[in-house]
Amino acid sequence: MTTNQNRNGAKFGGIYRSLIAVLGEPVELHRTSPLYWCDNALEVLLATILTQATSDKNALQSWRNLKQLCKEPSDILSLDEKVLLEAIKPAGIMTRRAKTLVGVLRTIHDRFGEYTLNQLAGDPGLAREILNNLPGVGPKTAACTMLFGLGLPCFPVDTHINRIACRMGWVASKSTPANTQLLLTETIPPEYHADLHILLLNLGRRYCRPTTPDCSHCPLSGECRFGSKSS
Ligand code: SF4
Repeated sequence: MTTNQNRNGAKFGGIYRSLIAVLGEPVELHRTSPLYWCDNALEVLLATILTQATSDKNALQSWRNLKQLCKEPSDILSLDEKVLLEAIKPAGIMTRRAKTLVGVLRTIHDRFGEYTLNQLAGDPGLAREILNNLPGVGPKTAACTMLFGLGLPCFPVDTHINRIACRMGWVASKSTPANTQLLLTETIPPEYHADLHILLLNLGRRYCRPTTPDCSHCPLSGECRFGSKSS
């Protein structure tokens, strides 16, 4: 193991422990996400599409509706359009979202001849290439599928985690989520990817809010550039 890897292991291990002490166990926090209630990588991909630009609560309700209607992901293709739109209504932007769900399923079938992502397990390069080129799928959705669906090393970054990473000084202050994702995937040790992703999402919701960060109560304030400036 290199010195840098040792340093990053100690740094992010400390952050992980500080966050757990205040926020609780990641597995419990993750239960509010539809990704927790998935049985395979393809389901994780579809559930992550439901989380785009909405709350976990609304995405989870839409995912539960879909799971009640569909035994298999491919059953989505047989749903009457009105039924599909009604099922995913809680998550909003239903027409675009339905188009993405259907487009993704068709593209996966065209590529693999079946409705599964199992062929991508164990191959991060191929997984990244295939997932990032699916219609309507961005880097964060691809990364969530890799991490939570396929168990591959990847650190998904959305706007909330990007905000924290910029404020903490882990990346440049104007780094984009996609760029931060590339950097943190390399920097954060893989054993912390899933848990830290969940913990930081919750830190962003409860403490590191966009306009009114609660730095005085934040468990990371002692090592945060932004927090030390604002206190
Ligand atoms: S100290 Fe403030 S800016 Fe830094 S991570 Fe915590 S809430 Fe965000």
